[in-house]
Amino acid sequence: MTEEFISLLVFSVPDLKRISFEEAIQQEFRPTRLGEWFGPSWATHWFHVQVRIPNEFAGEEVHFIWNADNEALVWSMDGTPIQGFTGGAGSDARHEYVLTTSARGGDPIQFYIEMACNGMFGAGNGLIGPPDPNRFFNLNELDLAVPNKLAWKLLYDFQIILGMSRDLPQESLRAAQALHTANRIVNVFRAGDDRTLEEGIRIASEFLGAKNGDSQHEITALGHCHIDTAWLWPFDETIRKAGRSWSTQIDLMDRYPEYTFVCSQAQQYEWVKDNYPKLWERIREKVTVGQFNPIGGTWVEMDCNIPSGESLVRQFLLGQRFFEEQFGKRCTVFWLPDTFGYSPQIPQLILQADMKYFFTQKLSWNNINKFPFTTFWWTALDGSRVITHMAPSETYNAQCTPEELIRTVRNHRDKEYTNSSLLVYGNGDGGGGPLAGMIERLKRMENVDGLAKVKMGSANEFYENIEKSGAELSSWKGELYFELHRGTYTTHAITKRYNRSCEFLLRELEILATLAMNADPYSFVYPKSEVERFWKMVCLVQFHDVLPGSAIEMVYDDVLRMHTEVDTLGTVMRDELLDTVLQLDPNISEGKKGLAVFNSLCWPRTEIIEIPLAEGLPTMKQYSAFGRTGYALGYLLQENPTFTPVTFETDRNNNIIVDNIYIKATFDKSGHLVGLRDKAGNGRELIKPGERGNVFTMYEDVPLFWDAWDTEIYHLEKGRQVEKGSVQILEQGPLRVSLLIEKTISETSRLRQIVVITAISKRIDFETELDWNENRQFLKVEFAWNILTDQVTYETQFGTIQRPTHYNTSWESAKFEVVGHKFADMSEYGYGVALLNDCKYGYAAHENVVRLSLIRSPKAPDPNCDIGHHVFKYAVYPHEGHFLQSDVVAEGFKFNVPLLSRVVSTAKATALSDPISHFRIEGAPNVVLDTIKRAEDSDDVILRLYEAYGGHATARLLT
Ligand SMILES: [Zn+2]
Repeated sequence: MTEEFISLLVFSVPDLKRISFEEAIQQEFRPTRLGEWFGPSWATHWFHVQVRIPNEFAGEEVHFIWNADNEALVWSMDGTPIQGFTGGAGSDARHEYVLTTSARGGDPIQFYIEMACNGMFGAGNGLIGPPDPNRFFNLNELDLAVPNKLAWKLLYDFQIILGMSRDLPQESLRAAQALHTANRIVNVFRAGDDRTLEEGIRIASEFLGAKNGDSQHEITALGHCHIDTAWLWPFDETIRKAGRSWSTQIDLMDRYPEYTFVCSQAQQYEWVKDNYPKLWERIREKVTVGQFNPIGGTWVEMDCNIPSGESLVRQFLLGQRFFEEQFGKRCTVFWLPDTFGYSPQIPQLILQADMKYFFTQKLSWNNINKFPFTTFWWTALDGSRVITHMAPSETYNAQCTPEELIRTVRNHRDKEYTNSSLLVYGNGDGGGGPLAGMIERLKRMENVDGLAKVKMGSANEFYENIEKSGAELSSWKGELYFELHRGTYTTHAITKRYNRSCEFLLRELEILATLAMNADPYSFVYPKSEVERFWKMVCLVQFHDVLPGSAIEMVYDDVLRMHTEVDTLGTVMRDELLDTVLQLDPNISEGKKGLAVFNSLCWPRTEIIEIPLAEGLPTMKQYSAFGRTGYALGYLLQENPTFTPVTFETDRNNNIIVDNIYIKATFDKSGHLVGLRDKAGNGRELIKPGERGNVFTMYEDVPLFWDAWDTEIYHLEKGRQVEKGSVQILEQGPLRVSLLIEKTISETSRLRQIVVITAISKRIDFETELDWNENRQFLKVEFAWNILTDQVTYETQFGTIQRPTHYNTSWESAKFEVVGHKFADMSEYGYGVALLNDCKYGYAAHENVVRLSLIRSPKAPDPNCDIGHHVFKYAVYPHEGHFLQSDVVAEGFKFNVPLLSRVVSTAKATALSDPISHFRIEGAPNVVLDTIKRAEDSDDVILRLYEAYGGHATARLLT
């Protein structure tokens, strides 16, 4: 049939480029045919297809059949995306395109096919193997077909009956009846005789016609297509996956008017809007009629472990604004089926983003404890709570089988209170969402005795009904700790470092732009579009397979490009804005010039800074101490307060002892911290005899399957402490003493560290460079503290979270590796010590040891993950009083946000009598002024403040 009725021409796009429809159809096409091979991986081939429908198909529905084991998109001749193809032989295969529902015979039909040389899960071997750049794909099916509709109808009926016979409890009446019915159908069926199909359908209808009673469980089925925004393929392919999948779904909506589909991630909508304008118009129509339902309210389905509080806010802000602008309404359900941990602040953020409900799924993957609830109140640190539901089928790619309905009821842990569930069905990623067969099966299972009732509907309605019912739901307070993928706090260190630095860069950029806007409201133009573009890139990278480190190497090439763009352009913009603010300030007059120091934090700071090299200032590297209180979020000009120098000595064991007025720190000759005494705090000694800090330990780190994702509990049993190292004095005071520590971690990895103690702080900084070349090793730095406690306080978004240091129960031992932001603090009554960092997120605390996870070396899906040069720093910050009485939160900010200094003139430096302060908080040391920005739609100023320690606060904000 092929040669006579289907003619095929192809244009192979050179250099792995992805080109537009308009560009593609201008090219010169060559003839090709069934059986040819197309490649290599990631290449694109455009086909011009000309079909003539055979005369004998007159009056029939005719399908075009296509399979090349990869993904493809059908385009109409006028450039409208029609539907996707998913190659292969799996349950997700989609090989048919309905050419006509009633052929005339001889009809000429033309269209284009855009073939992408990748499968649903990229081009790797096995699910998470790195991509093979040389995969080729065979066009192995090319045909025209007329479906036997009776046969299809009976097949769907039979699938339900067979499923019920197999998956209902075997002693049940309905399982027995189903088996008997299935057997009868098989016995009447004779291949080739359509009358036996009719007889089979009649037998099936007797069984399927039996209805449920009133008390049956009710399921709302939501069509869905979980498209990872980048994972085993690059971002650019995701754009096309969205185009293929969503056009397929629009086609399905035309064929099934009752069919409903939920779709998240504003970024993917924006991509489709920009790249597929004709498809976008069809989507808007389907949104209006309630079939295509935007959900989620965020820019991407983000990681929730690592992004800062402000980043999470921006995810919601960018998402909700997009949905409101494009569709006239905000989302009501935060949709995050697939993420690797759930910050305890999410319920509060959901409410503040004008949403009420939460849907997730991933927690069902816990590898130690089973989460006890299905539908529950999830309560944030501040008591905010949202109704949360986890589909009890434990999948967001359901196939609409009787087994899934049975599983839904069986796994529902709160069914005594709420007799309803969601079923989220459809093939994700390249699968294009639900198949017609899924909808056919759902329709058959709507109300069948023995199965839960199921209907296609809306997520919002499902949650509203639970809320209205006043069900006595259980509550879960705080973090939803995910007991898997614990390696993702550490994997792909550079991406995490840039994420942190970009977050702080954008913070300062917005603060300075706001100060400039206030100083010069008439002519200063707030860089709204640039700032938004930067935030969109930072938020895109926070996608739940990108920031965690679980994507392929190609993705991180794009990530590095985006991060360095934000970093480079953002730094230039921030520096220019600082100059602008200084120029606009009437306090800085001609006579008062020198070095301006800008502090973007809301606390006064006393710090040592390096004086920039500049004309008119000393050319030697030198430091100066800045020590004035009373200024915050402002700047002052240079001054030198008095101080007591920091000194060092070497004892007879070759230990180096560094002394300032606050602390006395002792390092052994290999660079371990063997003594730390607080001279002010009652002479408190923080290291027990025989114990140590700054110990590097290499752990063998071979997970069971998910290489980049997982570090398993057994890795802690196989660690090797790096003993040997050298230490020398680098700087000898008076403002700073620094030591150079060098360590050979292994035959292939080395570490170089500068330890800095200044004259004016208790903090010890460890500025570290690492050359890393390992295979499945995990490097951590460890400190054993003389602190009596059974919990550690970790920073999380806009607050802190306490986790135990013991393994009393399986729930506690499951937290053998946890996420934290800028610090982890170990405190007892009266004293504590914090471990700060500038770009790390993994911690492991057990008994009196706190470990900071530095770097991993997984080999899949990125075989080169984290191999190379790394720069990071951490610090030890001892403090009198428990964490709750400490200033650790402020110290974490200070460690991450250096003062900015600027030479405002070459004139002799003189001190400004009073520092200039723009915003200051008084009366509440537990309140953080985190964000200052222009409002989105006016010149109003937004200030975001939060209480950081878990208490109440009454603060005065001074401007
Ligand atoms: Zn995902």
